[in-house]
Amino acid sequence: MTLKLPKFAPQAAQLWSLLSIDDKRNILENVYCSHCKNVTTMFNASGKAEKGSLILNGQCAVCMNPVGRYIEADAFR
Ligand SMILES: [Zn+2]
Repeated sequence: MTLKLPKFAPQAAQLWSLLSIDDKRNILENVYCSHCKNVTTMFNASGKAEKGSLILNGQCAVCMNPVGRYIEADAFR
């Protein structure tokens, strides 16, 4: 499975590349959607880095509403 993420800023792409494929899949497939009130899959993800943490924003695969994930800097050490 290839996760192509063209909308990642360079720093965010660098952080993302440190995660294993399993971690990436786990992150993108376990996103809480406040609209669905359930865990869904994020698609159209874009990423930005902030103080060593990674912030992902995308859309809920079920309802298309915006969803986000914040991955703490600790995850990349
Ligand atoms: Zn949703």
